Amino acid sequence: MKNDVRVAVIGGGVVGASVLYHLTKAGWKDVLLIERGELTCGSTWHAAGGMHTINGDPNVAKLQQYTINLYKEIEQISGQSCGVHVTGGIMLAGTRARLDWLKMAKARGRYLGMELEIISVEEAARLFPLMNKEHFVGGLFDPIEGHVDPYGVTHAYAKAAQIGGAQVVRHTRVTDLKPRADGSWDIITDHGNVHAEHVVNAGGLWAREVGRMVGLELPILAMEHQYLITEDIPALKGQKEQLHCIDFEGEIYTRQERGGMLLGTYERAGVPWSPRATPWDFTQSLLPNDLERIAPSLEVRFEHFPALGEAGIRKVVNGPFTFAPDGNPLVGPIRGLRNFWVACGVMAGFSQGGGVGLALSHWMVDGDPGADVWGMDVARYGDWATLAYTNAKVRENYSRRFRIRFPNEELSAARPLRTTPIYERLQANHAVFGDYCGLEHALWFAPAAAEANEVITFHRSNAHSHVAAECRAVRESVGLLEISNYGKFEVTGAGAEEWLSQVMANRVPPVGRIALTPMLNERGKLIGDFTMARVAQERVFLVCTYAAEDYYRRWFERHAPPSGVSVRPCAMQYVGLSVAGPRSRALLQSLTHEDLSTAAFPFLTFRRMDVGMIPALVGRISFTGDLGYEIWVTSEYQRALYDLLIGAGAEYDLRLFGGRALNAMRLEKSFGTWAREYRPIYGPYEAGLGRFVDLRKDSFVGRAAALEEKAGGGKLRLVTFTVDARDADASGDEPIWHDGRVIGWVTSGGYGHSVQRSLALGYVPKEYAEVASGFEIEILGERCQATRQVAAVFDPDGSRMRG
Ligand SMILES: Cc1cc2nc3c(=O)[nH]c(=O)nc-3n(C[C@H](O)[C@H](O)[C@H](O)COP(=O)(O)OP(=O)(O)OC[C@H]3O[C@@H](n4cnc5c(N)ncnc54)[C@H](O)[C@@H]3O)c2cc1C
Repeated sequence: MKNDVRVAVIGGGVVGASVLYHLTKAGWKDVLLIERGELTCGSTWHAAGGMHTINGDPNVAKLQQYTINLYKEIEQISGQSCGVHVTGGIMLAGTRARLDWLKMAKARGRYLGMELEIISVEEAARLFPLMNKEHFVGGLFDPIEGHVDPYGVTHAYAKAAQIGGAQVVRHTRVTDLKPRADGSWDIITDHGNVHAEHVVNAGGLWAREVGRMVGLELPILAMEHQYLITEDIPALKGQKEQLHCIDFEGEIYTRQERGGMLLGTYERAGVPWSPRATPWDFTQSLLPNDLERIAPSLEVRFEHFPALGEAGIRKVVNGPFTFAPDGNPLVGPIRGLRNFWVACGVMAGFSQGGGVGLALSHWMVDGDPGADVWGMDVARYGDWATLAYTNAKVRENYSRRFRIRFPNEELSAARPLRTTPIYERLQANHAVFGDYCGLEHALWFAPAAAEANEVITFHRSNAHSHVAAECRAVRESVGLLEISNYGKFEVTGAGAEEWLSQVMANRVPPVGRIALTPMLNERGKLIGDFTMARVAQERVFLVCTYAAEDYYRRWFERHAPPSGVSVRPCAMQYVGLSVAGPRSRALLQSLTHEDLSTAAFPFLTFRRMDVGMIPALVGRISFTGDLGYEIWVTSEYQRALYDLLIGAGAEYDLRLFGGRALNAMRLEKSFGTWAREYRPIYGPYEAGLGRFVDLRKDSFVGRAAALEEKAGGGKLRLVTFTVDARDADASGDEPIWHDGRVIGWVTSGGYGHSVQRSLALGYVPKEYAEVASGFEIEILGERCQATRQVAAVFDPDGSRMRG
């Protein structure tokens, strides 16, 4: 084994091998893979090897497409067969709702170039004769599904990497990791030590243990998973290889394995494996079978696929593999640790392994993953994702693997976990809560406790009229919203302005003022949108997306502030309430001695003031686009502030409103939001944020690229549409058509209650941004006419928020 390398990859499963290959491909040849047993001896060797392109996150779906298309390349380089069988696959719908879901999946696949096809039951039965038509209403056909040989794929990656210069060492266990002052690592193994500039944790089933070597508790958990292989089925003899098939309602996946069929299931009562620590002696091992546990799915098999039910069982496999709480991989650099990277929690190694390797290798070599990997970035989880939280969420996710996630559906596991001081007060007002990073926040308010429950649906739900009433209150009088669920930072010190000016694209505002600012990466792409409020000369309060707080912290570490500047995350230390609507000024004025007139306290003012007895930071800004104020207090004051506003509010017809109404109102104003309209694949000019990029500054991260984007105009434009939708609105990722061609995609959608129109925001090529007509947005398989708007549909000149 070499004793000094640029990168040491820990783990020789499909993921570690892919990372190794991609590093050599990206030009880093001095790389070493350390495997404690044989390659594949963790969860890889007993995988069913299935591969699919569909994923809830289109960006992850793209990486899945990449993975499947990669197998030819690594076969060619390595000479090792991957055992690729591209049979095509069908997903069967047993209900109308499932068919709607499949139509949505097909529509989303359009702009990714996927050739998915909705098929009738007859057509499905022609393609997959083993099914019993009676139980189904239709299906989705994907021509590039199939399966591979897990051993072949892993060895092909490893051999291709070795041809590219990498070294692979087996039967060597990493027992400890020690950082050096220069950011490099000493890797302690049972066969001597290695020094590496970078370490990648691709430890799969043992990724938690490898994480613990550096004080990291990764949110992953292994679940037991079973599949069986039947005896030969006479009906298959002499036939073309059967398609892959997923039966959602039966919670079964199946494919041909030699003369029989392989059948697996994600049971509702899934069982975690080794929830606290993975035993080191579990090498190339399996777990005892427990067919009882999957008996309900096996019963369904008799009905839905009679030939499978009649065949005897040749083999049962029960093996563990790991999941993150949301089922997507955990990839990227770890905040607080230099040169330490993870590529773990990959539950679909044969669909995702290639994409994970590609993204991570670019991240390491170029400093940027080169694609939008927010959906699998390890930074999406913070300290709140504890082991017990992970356990509850992974079990929930596993049990729901084949269930529909409706756009308005909130999941119930691990809740409530984090609550703010006014949680019970909101509950007493019949709040329907959502979960955001483990934090409860009100979505909408029902008139009575018995109605505080949202029916899950693809269509407008029972919340619709209540959300409409909340929007009306804001637009006509005044509404009160809790805004604690934002990320917050306090930047203090003599060099605060200088540092922020370098990290953010906009100018730091003068004392007492607010500025909105994009944060760009070196490629000039959006990696954040912040509100910067200057409390004092050397104190700036930042408000941002809460889910991205750790992501930002990692970025701030990379662009470390000089000594004397402190960047302190203070998310839950400051909690907030917002009042918005034409009467919000009168309400707040009744509680403070400060003059709130526009002359004295104009739009984008920010000031420390007392509200009643409560010391607060107050900004004149509202995401509703109406006259409004955000009031930030330390958490011990929140209840008093709430009571004060509610008490005084009666006179002004104050009404509580929640996140759903806020979303509707921000759509009416064409306001974008992080992870929807603002992501690292868009530039600020494309996203309509150009006016917040101050190119007069000599230097800031991403300036050169932003300048170039401005000059060239970028490629895309964020556009607002009104949509002739019937009773279902766009919710995101729907295709935008023009003259019979898919030209873009929706980023957010919903119903604008104040304008009584269905609305959607989305990206189109810039050439289309001036085109007046001919647009359609596909919602649940139906192409609805859409009209491009030249300005926000509500208060386009912003006179309400400024007045
Ligand atoms: C029954 C079953 C069926 C499956 N079916 C499919 C399927 O059809 N399609 C699909 O895409 N996926 C499937 N999977 C999931 C798939 O197996 C995983 O996604 C994949 O194996 C994850 O690979 P990995 O490299 O992350 O982890 P692992 O395969 O667990 O690899 C990690 C490696 O790291 C090594 N290691 C760990 N710690 C150390 C250390 N300290 N020192 C040295 N080496 C170390 C281990 O020995 C191991 O070889 C299935 C899984 C199971 C259990």
